Amino acid sequence: MTDSSTADEAPICSARGCRAPAVWALRWNNPRLHDPERRKTWLACPQHRTSLGDFLDARGFLREVAPLPGSHTLEP
Ligand SMILES: [Zn+2]
Repeated sequence: MTDSSTADEAPICSARGCRAPAVWALRWNNPRLHDPERRKTWLACPQHRTSLGDFLDARGFLREVAPLPGSHTLEP
């Protein structure tokens, strides 16, 4: 069980076992499971942006990669 009561928590990378702050949002869609307009989102740290993106891209699921809103590391 995860304690979800903590407010203002930084988003964490979706890669398995990774606890790094996420700075990318990978939006994807599995046409066999989802409506065409639907988007699932994986969060990625800089280190896993490529591996997660390649995983989705290899299956033809990846739709777009966007900087995570509110990410402090990408602000000037
Ligand atoms: Zn990561």
